[in-house]
Amino acid sequence: MSRAKLLIHKDRIVRNVKKLHEFSGKKLVAVIKSNAYGMGAVNLAKLLEPLPEVDSFAVACVEEGATLRQAGVQKDILVLGGVLKEEVSFLKNYRLTPVISDFKHLEAIKGLDIKFHVKYDTGMGRLGFLKEVIKDPRIEGVMSHFSTPTDREFSLRQVEKFRSFVSHYSNVKVHMESSAGMIYKVPFTTHIRVGLAIYGEKPLRDYPIELEPAVSLKARLISVKSVPEGYPISYGKTYITPKEMRIGIVAFGYADGLMKSLSNKGYMFYGGKRLKILGSVTMDMSVIDLSDTEASVGDYVYLVGEGQSFVELSKLAGTIPYEIMCNVGERVQRLIV
Ligand SMILES: *Cc1c(COP(=O)(O)O)cnc(C)c1O
Repeated sequence: MSRAKLLIHKDRIVRNVKKLHEFSGKKLVAVIKSNAYGMGAVNLAKLLEPLPEVDSFAVACVEEGATLRQAGVQKDILVLGGVLKEEVSFLKNYRLTPVISDFKHLEAIKGLDIKFHVKYDTGMGRLGFLKEVIKDPRIEGVMSHFSTPTDREFSLRQVEKFRSFVSHYSNVKVHMESSAGMIYKVPFTTHIRVGLAIYGEKPLRDYPIELEPAVSLKARLISVKSVPEGYPISYGKTYITPKEMRIGIVAFGYADGLMKSLSNKGYMFYGGKRLKILGSVTMDMSVIDLSDTEASVGDYVYLVGEGQSFVELSKLAGTIPYEIMCNVGERVQRLIV
């Protein structure tokens, strides 16, 4: 009965996964951290788990891994964000595979009979060992992460640094390519580690893989009315109608994830028409221009899908698609269709 719905189109997700696999020739570590970028981690894991192209999952922290196990997920779950001493019991209890990127993580899992991956910092400047090569019979995989896939020269230097780390290992999983990083087709990796592209959102302008947008986000009109010329719209009266206008009040505001920076900037879609957001986005509602539409109370308007992607919306908001996706509010119903 929710007034806003986020629809995940199963067939398109499946086709995107197959395309990512075909392009790379590698199986996926499907990154579903942060509630699958706000799209719903349990739903996504259930959808992805039966696919032969999906090798395993990756989450940010042990709690996220535990949630997936409690929901019945069976495939391996990598914990990207390392492991703190207090979190070690989760690893055994929920059969999680930590990524070790600090000597303190190694210490925390001392004597523990589990497999793990090691992360090398080849230029990301975040997690990972810089120089030390970690050798341990429990190591199942090694990984690194691109910081700036748009910078070809820098990225290729990262690849070469990673190559020298990888040369110390045999028979391990090796993964480096994220959605954007896939353009480098790193020859010595065995898996790709992707999130965003699964949803059909293109991480780069010239992305060589034809993906299908797989998410729609829609909300209902809760009021439609006409206001006279010169009428102020919403808090702060930042928009004044230039003429008599038909406006719609949409049950979607910044609490649902529509950035306030999209006030007077963003668009929603109805029946193929692009409708401007008028005035300030408020907590639970926003106002759109419904002139030249037949839209009426109860109808859905689209924020994503039907003409607009998270990438496009994020450009208008001055951010990246990841941030908008992660901020889709809790009261928005997530559905697999
Ligand atoms: C989030 C993340 C990914 C996935 O990135 P996408 O751009 O969504 O494909 C891969 N690796 C690491 C370490 C990450 O944190």
